Amino acid sequence: MNGPRICGAFAQVPSGLHGDMRAIGNGDLADAVSHLRCRLEAHPPGFHFDLVWQLDDARHGEMWAIWIDGHDADAVFIRPDCPGQGGMSGYGDEACTLFHGHPGKCSYAFADPLSDALIAGLHRRAPGF
Ligand SMILES: [Zn+2]
Ligand SMILES: [Zn+2]
Repeated sequence: MNGPRICGAFAQVPSGLHGDMRAIGNGDLADAVSHLRCRLEAHPPGFHFDLVWQLDDARHGEMWAIWIDGHDADAVFIRPDCPGQGGMSGYGDEACTLFHGHPGKCSYAFADPLSDALIAGLHRRAPGF
């Protein structure tokens, strides 16, 4: 498949970051993820981002983790959702799943082969779904 793709770089959330997460987040820290995968459009080496914690009170946004190639996550921040809306043919009015001001294209404008494969697997296991 050609065209823009997701970055997909992997990283871990070190337990040393949990104090910072508790300090700015709310809800059950058990709901936070520990394995990260960059959700941006493929980009040159540098900073990667993934949604690390969907907060109980998301009025100000969700919590994102940031890391550099080859390192664990080293900071978290809260940002509102990207206001981007898709509306591409076949995607309905899918909203961008990234944060406000993210680099690169909005999430509905590039492919995520891993997520597509997982969804295809679900469809195969659940006929009629
Ligand atoms: Zn990345
Ligand atoms: Zn966007």
